[in-house]
Amino acid sequence: MSAISLYARATAGYEARVAATLQILREAAAAHPGSIVLATSLGAEDQVLTDLIVRHRLPIAIGTLETGALHEQTAALIGRTEAHYAGIADGGLKIEVYRPQAEAVVEFVRKNGERAMYQSIDLRKACCGIRKLEPLARMLAGRTAWVTGLRREQSDARGVVAAIGTDDQGRVKVNALVDWTWADVWHYIATNGVPYNPLHDEFMPSIGCAPCTRAIAVGEPFRAGRWWWEDEKAKECGLHVSQAPADASAVSALPPC
Ligand code: SF4
Repeated sequence: MSAISLYARATAGYEARVAATLQILREAAAAHPGSIVLATSLGAEDQVLTDLIVRHRLPIAIGTLETGALHEQTAALIGRTEAHYAGIADGGLKIEVYRPQAEAVVEFVRKNGERAMYQSIDLRKACCGIRKLEPLARMLAGRTAWVTGLRREQSDARGVVAAIGTDDQGRVKVNALVDWTWADVWHYIATNGVPYNPLHDEFMPSIGCAPCTRAIAVGEPFRAGRWWWEDEKAKECGLHVSQAPADASAVSALPPC
């Protein structure tokens, strides 16, 4: 059964949420000319944002992290997405791809083994640091704002995320889908023909690296398939953990990373 047939639903307020997201993206692009990027995990939410950015020709760069541990379906989605939008984006869509430093990965694996992430939270975070955080820092270097597909519905930890916040470097973080539901995401994908990761059809709503992602069972939380062997509180890769919200009523925010 496909993710579209399982999840896509038109619900009250959908059109208004799409319009609000577009407005947020337009304002962010205008406020950060030439220095804003969508950090896409290639998950369903980020594919929606990619579609909005390309379809409306918004001047927002699109970058992703090729960690070297992705499922082949996820890695292939980079090229599929570029090909899909080749005729829509002016000059074609070019997704910036950031990879970890090869020597750092080789050294980490040599010292700790291929399955280090399962041994301890510290080793798992060290792996995320090498494969995700360092390349993300390069993606964000020289940029004043980044866009994410965080949604409040994704987990308790993300339940208070604000639409506009700042990260620990003082960079503006634009969480343009905060109030979208999972049904909204898939309704948008279905009605706009957005390319998506076929792993979503295999009960993987949240997709990260292959060793750290599994399918979820009926009734399990959205992110239950990510770092499933760890305590719930540890389950973030560090991409979003120290965000300071602009909205004082919000506390912190965390990712589809
Ligand atoms: S998600 Fe898993 S494989 Fe990917 S960087 Fe983090 S620990 Fe390493």
